[in-house]
Amino acid sequence: MLLTISTTYNPATDLGFLLYKNPYSVQSFELSFGKAHVFYPEANEARCTAALLLDIDPIALVRGRKDKRGEGALQHYVNDRPYVASSFLSVAIAEVFGSALSGKSRERPDLAATPIPLIATISAIECRAGEEVLRRLFEPLGYAVEVTGHQLDETFSEWGASHYYSLKLEGTCTLHDLLTHLYVLIPVLDNDKHYWVGDDEVNKLLRHGEGWLAKHPDCELITRRYLRYKHHLAREALQRLADDDDLDPDLSEEKHANEEAAVERPLSLNERRLGTVIAVLKETGARRIIDMGCGEGRLVDRMMQEKEFSQIVGMDVSYRSLEIAQSRLKVERLPERQKERLQFIQGSLTYRDKRFSGFDAATCIEVIEHLDLPRLSAFERVLFEFAAPKAVIVTTPNSEYNCRFETLPAGQFRHRDHRFEWTREQFKSWANQVASRFNYKVRFLPIGDVDAEVGAPTQMGVFEK
Ligand code: SAH
Repeated sequence: MLLTISTTYNPATDLGFLLYKNPYSVQSFELSFGKAHVFYPEANEARCTAALLLDIDPIALVRGRKDKRGEGALQHYVNDRPYVASSFLSVAIAEVFGSALSGKSRERPDLAATPIPLIATISAIECRAGEEVLRRLFEPLGYAVEVTGHQLDETFSEWGASHYYSLKLEGTCTLHDLLTHLYVLIPVLDNDKHYWVGDDEVNKLLRHGEGWLAKHPDCELITRRYLRYKHHLAREALQRLADDDDLDPDLSEEKHANEEAAVERPLSLNERRLGTVIAVLKETGARRIIDMGCGEGRLVDRMMQEKEFSQIVGMDVSYRSLEIAQSRLKVERLPERQKERLQFIQGSLTYRDKRFSGFDAATCIEVIEHLDLPRLSAFERVLFEFAAPKAVIVTTPNSEYNCRFETLPAGQFRHRDHRFEWTREQFKSWANQVASRFNYKVRFLPIGDVDAEVGAPTQMGVFEK
C-alpha cells in the first residue's frame, strides 16, 4: 500500500520539514500491524515527493484478532489488506506523520499554516459504491480528483471491473488539511474497519473534521460511515457538528466583508470599482483574464457579460467564497458555451502556480491589503515574474480617505482582515518599485469621487508590459 504526497512549492524540499522526515534518508517504523517506510522518490527544489509505504503483515493481523469466525481461515491470510488503503493507513498517518497531521512544524510554522500546491496519490483504494462516491467525498474539499479503475484481473477481461481504484488528489491547501481529509475519509471508504468504534472515535472524528466536515455536503454520510453506522454515536457527532458550525472562520470573513460593504455603501463604491475595472480591461484589449482573489465572484460575473472576454478564471484561497461565486453565477445551469469560458480554481497568490500563466490580464481587486506584509514580496514574484500577464490591475483602499467615512472610527481599517491600508504615496512607491523590477509601466487612476484634500476612496494601479 503506497501513499505519495508531492509539492511544487519552492523550495519543494521544505516538505521534509513539514513531515518531520529527512528527504535524504529512508526511515522505517514498527506499527502494530506491520511496518511503515518513509522515503522520497524525488527531492529537489522544484518538486518533492514523499512516499509512505505500508508493509502490512497479514499473519500478524490474524494473530492479533479475536474473531468469531475462528483463526486460520483462508480469508484471514489471503485478503486485500496489504494492498489497499484502509483504516490502517489512517493509523499510520497518525503515528508516522502525527505532527504534520496536527498542523505543527518546528522549522516551518508559517508554511505549515499556508495553502501550498499538493498532490496525493493512493495506489489502490476500495470503493464498492463506485468512482462517483470517491469524487463526492473529495471534490467539495477543493481537490481535482483523478480516478483510475482497475479490472478484476487483467488477464481475464471478461471478469470485468473491480471495486479497486487508484486515486490522485490535486489541490492547494495546507498539508494539515490534506492529511486530515485522508485520515477521516479513507476509513469512510473502508468497509472492513479494523478497530473498535467507541466514544473516542467521535472525538477523533470531530477533532480531525474541524473546519471542514460540518460544511461538507456529505457530512452525514461521512459521519455515519466513519462511525460504522453506530446510530447513537453518529447522532451525537452530528449534533456536535451542528453546534461547531458557528465557529467557521469563513463565516466570520463573510460577516466582516459585509461590514466593509456597509462602510462604503453610501458611495456605491463597489459598483464604480467594477465598472472602472471592466472599462480598463477592455482598453487593454485583454481576452483571457484571471481574477485573483475573486471572492464571491462579483467581478467575474460582470466579465461574463462582456463577449470579448473569451476565457475568465476566478481564483481564491477560500473554498467557501468559490462556492458562493459558483452559485451566484449559476455555473451548473449555464449553457455549454458560457461554461467553457469560465473556470474557478482554488489557489494562493503567494505561491507560484502554473495555472496562473498564459493570461492577457490579471485583476487583483481589494486583495493585497489582505496579505501579510512579509508575504507581499512572494506575491509580487508570483504575479509579475511567474504569471506575468501583459496587464495587471491592482486596487486597494486609499487610507487617507478613511476620515471621510462617517461610520468608520478614526484609525480603524475598513475591514477587520486588512493587514494594512496605504496612503496614495505608499501605494505609488510600492507600485513604481514593482513596475521597474519586473519591466512594467504603471499608471494610477482614482476610483470614486476625488476629494480635493484626501483623494479618492479607492486607488488603482494599471501595470502594462
Ligand atoms: N476581489 C473580490 C474579493 C475581495 S476580498 C472583490 O472585490 O469583491 C479579498 C479576497 O482575497 C478574499 O476572497 C480572500 O479569500 C482572498 N485572499 C486572501 N488572501 C489570499 C491569497 N493568499 N490567495 C488568494 N486569495 C486570497
